[in-house]
Amino acid sequence: MSAPRVAIIGGSMAGLFAAIALRARGCDVAIYERAGEALANRGAGIATHDELYAAVRAAGIELRAEMGVESHGRIMFARDGSVLHTQDMHQIMTSWGLIYRFLRAQVPDAIYHGGRALAGIEPGADNVTAVFDDGSRVTADWLLGADGARSTVRAIVAPQTQAEYVGYFGWRGLIDEALVPGEVLEQVAHRMAFCMAPGGHWLGYLVAGPGDTLEPGRRWYNWGWYRSADAATLADHLTDASGHYHEGGIPHHLIRDELVAAMREQAHQYLAPQIQAIITATRQPFLQGMFDFCSERLVHDRVVLIGDAAATARPHVGLGVSKAADDASSFASALADGGAEALSRWEARRLRYARAVVAWGRDLGSYIGPQPDDPQHRAKAAHYRRPEVLLRATAASDPQTYLDL
Ligand SMILES: Cc1cc2nc3c(=O)[nH]c(=O)nc-3n(C[C@H](O)[C@H](O)[C@H](O)COP(=O)(O)OP(=O)(O)OC[C@H]3O[C@@H](n4cnc5c(N)ncnc54)[C@H](O)[C@@H]3O)c2cc1C
Repeated sequence: MSAPRVAIIGGSMAGLFAAIALRARGCDVAIYERAGEALANRGAGIATHDELYAAVRAAGIELRAEMGVESHGRIMFARDGSVLHTQDMHQIMTSWGLIYRFLRAQVPDAIYHGGRALAGIEPGADNVTAVFDDGSRVTADWLLGADGARSTVRAIVAPQTQAEYVGYFGWRGLIDEALVPGEVLEQVAHRMAFCMAPGGHWLGYLVAGPGDTLEPGRRWYNWGWYRSADAATLADHLTDASGHYHEGGIPHHLIRDELVAAMREQAHQYLAPQIQAIITATRQPFLQGMFDFCSERLVHDRVVLIGDAAATARPHVGLGVSKAADDASSFASALADGGAEALSRWEARRLRYARAVVAWGRDLGSYIGPQPDDPQHRAKAAHYRRPEVLLRATAASDPQTYLDL
């Protein structure tokens, strides 16, 4: 029997993990990625935990300890700059770009096709054909939708499942650590720092710098500030000075100056002086709308959804990359086992996990965004906004908690 041919749509985390795991099992794999160049650093810091290491190992890759900056715990500052709460927790904080480049280096260029955007899918009797927007076509035994939260693959096979705006967005920043005043850096280095504000908390930590350097003085400081906002306010933030609305995300340099100025003013009003200094040092903050959803199915005949295309949780859980790795390596095992039954067992297992992670993200973010007037929600929100809970639960691995939800 010839090796199964798998066309992977999307060459980011899920797509790369899938290519590596499937190739290790002898599949004939090719990746088709919409972006024409190497994917840029998306500015996301990634918290590592046992689950990430285990998922990555199962995909046949050994993440090295030196792939990030050591963090010894968490610290929450009060508005006046005093310390409100601390939590010991050893973690390596890495960056999205560093993991991406590490995975990308393990996939031969010959099977990674950039600048190819999927536009359509044609099911065959015993195969499936991907149709790209340049008119080219590729026929394979399986088509993997690893094309992210706004998946084209999902839009074709399950148009009813859409990522939903959760009622808050994040202001984000990624700056040279040398721009952070020394006395502030001393307080926030090697810890995940938090500060509570009305409408959402702020958090930040050091990650690898340019060229993936971990050299002190040359790393980046990564931060995010969740802000409650209705859909109209988000749309306004994604509209540039010429009136153009950037639905999928606004390029950083096009964010209107008055919005950045208003954010800086709010930082002055609500956040600790240490955090204000970090925000002041950030010349070009950027915006990220927060969305979540979970698919009802992952297997649609010969089309399979994995990673964020299958389900996207709010970033508080910090499990997006390990979920993508797990989806990918367990799919490769199920395919190797062969038969519809193995795939159906895989789908049930991964859906259960995805639902739990999405629900866990909703709980962690329950105090941000719209607040329904029901006592159960109010009690939940009050619980998750407590400093000790926020510090202990954010991007920490505690699988049993959410699997038991
Ligand atoms: C603020 C923030 C913080 C986060 N922090 C963490 C963290 O600490 N830990 C963690 O594990 N996760 C974190 N995540 C989540 C993590 O970044 C994602 O879960 C992960 O990148 C998902 O990978 P993916 O490959 O499924 O999707 P994506 O990374 O979105 O990749 C999808 C790819 O598909 C391509 N594509 C899209 N459409 C098409 C098409 N039609 N044809 C061809 N290609 C297409 C895109 O160009 C893209 O490269 C965070 C996310 C955010 C927003």
